[in-house]
Amino acid sequence: MTLFRRHEASRKCKYLNRKKYPEPRKGKDCSCVMAMDGFVTTPDGIKIPMRGSLGTRSWKDAETILSAKLHPYLRGETVQADITVDAAVQNFLRTKKNSLPARADFGGVSESVRAFRDRTGRNPDDEQEQVRKYTDVLTPLKKFCHERGLILLKQISTEDLEVLASTWKGRSTWKGGVIVGHEPKTQGGKQRYQQNLTIFFNHAVDREWIVKNPASKLDKITVTDSVIEPFTVKEWSNIFSKIEPTFPKIHKMVRAFVLVLRESALRLGDVVKLRPQDITPAGEIEITTEKTDEYVWVTLPEEVLVALNGFEPKSQKYFFWTGNGQLETAKKDWSENMLRLFRAANVQGGISRRSHNFRKTLAVSVAEEGGLDAAMILLAHKSIKTTQKHYAKFTAGRKDKVREALKTVRAKEKLNKLE
Ligand SMILES: [Zn+2]
Repeated sequence: MTLFRRHEASRKCKYLNRKKYPEPRKGKDCSCVMAMDGFVTTPDGIKIPMRGSLGTRSWKDAETILSAKLHPYLRGETVQADITVDAAVQNFLRTKKNSLPARADFGGVSESVRAFRDRTGRNPDDEQEQVRKYTDVLTPLKKFCHERGLILLKQISTEDLEVLASTWKGRSTWKGGVIVGHEPKTQGGKQRYQQNLTIFFNHAVDREWIVKNPASKLDKITVTDSVIEPFTVKEWSNIFSKIEPTFPKIHKMVRAFVLVLRESALRLGDVVKLRPQDITPAGEIEITTEKTDEYVWVTLPEEVLVALNGFEPKSQKYFFWTGNGQLETAKKDWSENMLRLFRAANVQGGISRRSHNFRKTLAVSVAEEGGLDAAMILLAHKSIKTTQKHYAKFTAGRKDKVREALKTVRAKEKLNKLE
């Protein structure tokens, strides 16, 4: 076995100069990374090649690591090969694909899509929908590891992940059909990436590929809560008046879409896949949500029901979607429509005051009138804590109720004491 330093261009090592140093492995007085080359012979006489980085710059540590590596072989134990980054990612994604519930509930399938699936033997929609959030973070991780010569999963340190995290970018900015840059990644986005990275490494620890999760030591990312700014009456009337001029051909459909958004507090994705059968004869929407799979029930005003019947639906099955292709694509299209409308109506406040703000606006009014419980049910939050965090401040009226109740309670207490 040979221990040597793998000289690194990034450290501008002098031993990379082959003319001056024809035998680079003899160069030891630099701080390039330690590597090994050779083979070990087991007691049965089997030669096992051992090659690669030892993950340290210290000669002494390298000797220790090497002897730790050699001993099991010399003792004749069978040694489990360490998993590579690529294999670990592949295994993880395969597990996730199999364990996530199939989403067969939305989307009729066109003939061409069905033919494609038959040909390729897989379902591109499902795959994409279910593992996208993991590939978004694991593909850059693989690329990062390749660039830095990190082959084995166990070579990845918390420091490596910190560097990786500093490269995360936000949405692409486009100009003339070309990506010209990226927005900075939001805190929320970084938090989700870090969570998914942690899930991946937890899986690796569970499988005993590695001993410790390098992502668990990363600094916690805190997200400052954005303040909800409901749409004002003036803004709403601006938005409403711009529908027809902005969408002369499909203004009736857009109007119905906006009305449902405003009056149902549903997320955009749930409105896009709204079906006539989701509306009860009594004019109530009853669905399970796309994002959280929660049951939602909401009553619609007459005006919205009329609007929903006032245009040619996109397809037989859905009001606002052809039902072909991916729901994600349809969501993007509607999101772009809404952006056009908000720009036309000159709504200020950036990304936090777009389609999603209809949901928040209604929830604020409901919280003001009916308290947090009512807002929680409307929003289909799983926990009251989520509702509380954002909407508690809009329940000033409830304080009066508590005040009144306490007054009565204390008056009664006084009476009891006197008796
Ligand atoms: Zn060197």
